[in-house]
Amino acid sequence: MRQKKELTILIKTMKEHCCPSEDLKDVKRAFDFAAASYGGQTRASGKPQIEHALAVASQLAEWKLTPEIVIAGLLHDIFEYTKVTEDDIRKKFGFKVARLITGENRLDSLKYWGKEQYAENLRRMFLAMAEDVQIVFIKFADRIDNLKTLEFLPEEKRRRLADESIEIYGPIAGRLGMGKIRQRLEDLAFRQLYPKEYAWAEGIVAEYLKDNEQLIKKIKKTVAEDAKNSGIKIVEIRSRTKSLYSLYNKLSIHERNVDKIYDIMAIRIIVEDIPKCYALLGIIHHRWKPLPRRIKDYIAQPKPNGYRSLHTNVFTGKRVMEFQIRTPEMQDEAKYGIAAHWIYKEKQINISNNIKKHTEWLKELSVIQKDLEKHAIASQAMRSVKIDLFKNRIFVFTPKGDVIELPEDATPLDFAYAVHADLGNHCKKAFVNEMPAALDKKLRSNDVIKIQKSDRPCVDKHWLKIVCTRRARKKIREALNKK
Ligand code: MN
Repeated sequence: MRQKKELTILIKTMKEHCCPSEDLKDVKRAFDFAAASYGGQTRASGKPQIEHALAVASQLAEWKLTPEIVIAGLLHDIFEYTKVTEDDIRKKFGFKVARLITGENRLDSLKYWGKEQYAENLRRMFLAMAEDVQIVFIKFADRIDNLKTLEFLPEEKRRRLADESIEIYGPIAGRLGMGKIRQRLEDLAFRQLYPKEYAWAEGIVAEYLKDNEQLIKKIKKTVAEDAKNSGIKIVEIRSRTKSLYSLYNKLSIHERNVDKIYDIMAIRIIVEDIPKCYALLGIIHHRWKPLPRRIKDYIAQPKPNGYRSLHTNVFTGKRVMEFQIRTPEMQDEAKYGIAAHWIYKEKQINISNNIKKHTEWLKELSVIQKDLEKHAIASQAMRSVKIDLFKNRIFVFTPKGDVIELPEDATPLDFAYAVHADLGNHCKKAFVNEMPAALDKKLRSNDVIKIQKSDRPCVDKHWLKIVCTRRARKKIREALNKK
């Protein structure tokens, strides 16, 4: 039986991730229970319901998540399609599993269209994440399997699911640092929404790989030899191609000029620890000249979603090649993001700093969500949430070198309020890269900003027109009201 075989693979995956055998028994028990409850039920695609359940659970197991989440994945549709109740699940599989399933069910797609749907969807995602971010992992796995069989659904529903995946699920996965999962969601949806463009992007990657096959091989070999000669052990070296959706977006910005894209393919090298990352970067730069301003040290200064790695682009003669250097821990984090905290491992990885980053963001989300509750779904509020979270971001620095993430149109005032409300309220003068700057100057990535404080608050009504972040606007209003 096909499902039995898939179950065996699922169990094997979990075993490889060191899942204890009592937990594996529970997973098998959950499978038997789901299979019996679904009986012969099939989906729109004609596939048995239990196969979808298995696909979702397998995906979660592949992401190395805990047995409870995998079990919840197996049972996630059970309330909708069978007579099984939450109480039954609680008794058989525990409180936690039941809660994960109810949480996931609450996220189910809405039946109406347009702006309100977008707003309502986001609101539900935030709510679920504030409650328990693990719920969202199940939703992502569910959506990935659904995107694979969209062609069996009516056109309207098909478009809605694909749109939603690109507009909402992808960016949220990205913001949670789940790079690989974001890529899956976006590429599957992209193929559904724009099959022609998808095929075009796919062709570009295939051609690139064909043209450069020998060169890539040679570069990999050279790096491996150089590293070996310097006594650096390479854990893994592989080439990765850019996701088709992000490639397509990048090509659209560059008038479809392929030569302007340096990272269609990158060589990713995993070494044992951080000092070796830097040592290897030196070795690569010794061999090939780097492109100016394209060296990124995301280890010293991680991206706000927690991403860490060294990036560099070098001239290899024929081609500019991107290298990404990181440790095994960084690799797990880059693939699974916040989900890495639930990764099933005997040895706990030290990712405390990143946990802090993630949870700060989640805290902010729950505040936004509470705000939205209060104002129902005022579309103005929604728009600024969208801008705050998903607009292109810039990264600027405090004089001490801390990274502050802001939306693209941010000004020194937004910066001041992002650092601290008090700094915002007392903002007298701003210096950008050590030069005096107007408070409404548009900041750019890598700017270093210093704020000179006045002795007393100097909030002014016209500041509301200068700022573009929610936080600044809110704090200015509060200060004005106090006055
Ligand atoms: Mn489902």
